[in-house]
Amino acid sequence: MANDLRLQAKLAVLARKPRKCPVPVNEQGKYLKISQYYGENVYNYHLSKSLSLEDKDALKQVIDGKKTITKELASKVANSVLEWAITKGATHFCHWFQPLTGSTAEKHDAFLNFDNDRPIETLSASQLMQGEPDASSFPNGGSRATFEARGYTTWDLTSPIFIQESVNGKTLVIPTAFVSYHGDALDTKTPLLRSDLRINEVMTKFCNLVGMSDVNKVYTTCGAEQEYFLVDKAFFFNRQDLVMTGRTLFGSLTSRNQQLEDHYFGLIEDRVLAYMQEVEIELYKMGIPAKTRHNEVAPGQFELAPIFKDSNVAADNNQIVMTVLRTVALKHDFVCILHEKPFAGVNGSGKHLNWSMSTDTGVNLLEPGHNPHENFRFLAVVATVTEAVYRHQDIIRMGIAAHSNDHRLGANEAPPSIMSVFLGSTLTAILDSMIAGGKYVASSKTVLDLGARQLADLAKDNTDRNRTSPFAFTGNKFEFRACGSSASIGYPLSILNAAVIDVFEETNKILEAEINAGKKIDEALNTVILKWYGNAQKAVFNGDGYSEEWVKEAARRGLGNYRTTPEAIAAVFKDKNKTGVLEKTGVFRENEINTRANVMLERYIKCREIEFRTLRGMVLKQVLPVAVEYKGILAENVKKQKDAGAECSVETELLKHLATVTKDLYENTVILNSTLEELHHKGDEDHFAQKIAQDLMPLSVKIADLCNQVEEIVPDEMWPVPKYFDMLFIR
Ligand code: ADP
Ligand code: MG
Repeated sequence: MANDLRLQAKLAVLARKPRKCPVPVNEQGKYLKISQYYGENVYNYHLSKSLSLEDKDALKQVIDGKKTITKELASKVANSVLEWAITKGATHFCHWFQPLTGSTAEKHDAFLNFDNDRPIETLSASQLMQGEPDASSFPNGGSRATFEARGYTTWDLTSPIFIQESVNGKTLVIPTAFVSYHGDALDTKTPLLRSDLRINEVMTKFCNLVGMSDVNKVYTTCGAEQEYFLVDKAFFFNRQDLVMTGRTLFGSLTSRNQQLEDHYFGLIEDRVLAYMQEVEIELYKMGIPAKTRHNEVAPGQFELAPIFKDSNVAADNNQIVMTVLRTVALKHDFVCILHEKPFAGVNGSGKHLNWSMSTDTGVNLLEPGHNPHENFRFLAVVATVTEAVYRHQDIIRMGIAAHSNDHRLGANEAPPSIMSVFLGSTLTAILDSMIAGGKYVASSKTVLDLGARQLADLAKDNTDRNRTSPFAFTGNKFEFRACGSSASIGYPLSILNAAVIDVFEETNKILEAEINAGKKIDEALNTVILKWYGNAQKAVFNGDGYSEEWVKEAARRGLGNYRTTPEAIAAVFKDKNKTGVLEKTGVFRENEINTRANVMLERYIKCREIEFRTLRGMVLKQVLPVAVEYKGILAENVKKQKDAGAECSVETELLKHLATVTKDLYENTVILNSTLEELHHKGDEDHFAQKIAQDLMPLSVKIADLCNQVEEIVPDEMWPVPKYFDMLFIR
């Protein structure tokens, strides 16, 4: 049974050429500069001819959260948006939202309407502002009774409206939040928007307290570096596991994979570069500033990083990035895999969330300053954020929990599931010496000189990046590295923001009390630094986060280490002491916290069940038939050789080995299956999830290993599915 499909796939892949896509050109056919077409598919009210200057001003106030929009203004904006969209060739509009599936959802409506019998295009104010999708088909974690299936999408004015082009038409996309009839968030955007408002409130107060009286607004910024794999579609669709679960459930590792470190930042192959270029053109048109592209560590793995924006828009943009990566890939005969761990044995994919806070006056609050005063402020911000991560480490861990991310965390390729903070040697030394010195020393001649001199080394210090830390200070921002590549970043960002809001509220109280007691601002900031850094020092770790010693050391320090999603859900999500902050800061409602716990648990179980069932199917229908067939061939051979009186120890050995492996494989698959069905029918979800993590996952790894042993014995041409070699090296 030579495997034709696999051979055909290889031949198809070898014949591929880089795809030429339409590149934006001017009338003379010359390539446009990116700046000439950047954002051409984004609605910009400043450019609207139908809106008056007063309208634009009023709209700006609404966007800045100072006013709510009037029906009249909404009507005018709807007209302006419609006019623009029609000129651009859009025929439909959609409310675009981010339900708890982790991806996005949209329902399209045509602009088509009738004026008596005459067909016309319309977009009303209410169509722009509100939609009513049936909420019952989206995950709700039991938050909504079935009789009350209404959900509402409401226009998020802070995220730009844009046009999405497809082969045969264009659609106007309106970013929206998705809430239940009672206003409970059914999405990842609503909590993020709430956290934005609270950050603004608390941080503006902080800035004003420390003497930045011109600050009227503070917002968080985020740049999400997106990692992904590309696999040729001929291979992809020949692997049920990739199609059904996004990862290979077995596969024998090639002898060369990533150990030579020759892929990272290596030359980008033509076919891949052509793909990246088309992705970027699409993104630029939609106003997404893709900046960096490069090969990642694993073969077949790549990264795209945009220039940072405010967190809400960055979160929307990242969803679009993931969509564009996937859709454009197919045009290039690739499939873009966003799963955190598509291939065992080589690195998985993450999403580094670069995060900071910025004022409307253009100050990055995590930028070391040029004078001692600015540096006291900077250190107080660092210390407060460090305390936030230390105090709320468990829910921050929760924010990135997913079955797919469990494969990365703590697997020596991504930060462990221990949430520590890397500050680098310079910053740590400064903070340590402040703690040792105890109190504020005004004179710059003393040990403590917080001027530019010491902090000037920060940039250099942080170029030697500690890739092993989940939360690292990188010069003028923190980089939260434990987020999964397929995750919706709105969720972890809203949790991180809640943690930060919580501690900054206390920081503000301390500052107020100190200043009221007659202390100077720097002295007050010093109190904050000593208090928070003194307390959170336990979470600061600059060493190798992948090492066994760190796991032990972290346990001694009392830091949490929840290795799997069910462990994290059981220990964290249902503990009010841990989740209370989400409610207290107004970022989540109580109901929503339970909703999320349920959705996460349910998702974990469903995804794992799909994996186990897919694995069983592939073992029974693809791996075992080949094993049995090759066993037969060997047996016949051994018999023939014996009859002829020939030496046949090799065949006999192979046969024996294959027989044992085949038997083991079958038996373990039967156990996996029966245990799964038993647990499935018991209906106790918490128990089921724990069992999956503790028993069934290790069992499935054992089955994968047995499949790999079969793969290594049977002749190459008999193997029924694309191998790691095919998928990672043939392009
Ligand atoms: P690095 O080399 O440290 O990764 P880059 O400048 O390449 O630094 O930035 C990586 C990502 O961090 C990019 O997406 C970038 O836009 C983002 N970034 C830079 N500064 C900030 C900031 N202040 N807030 C949020 N993200 C930022
Ligand atoms: Mg990277």
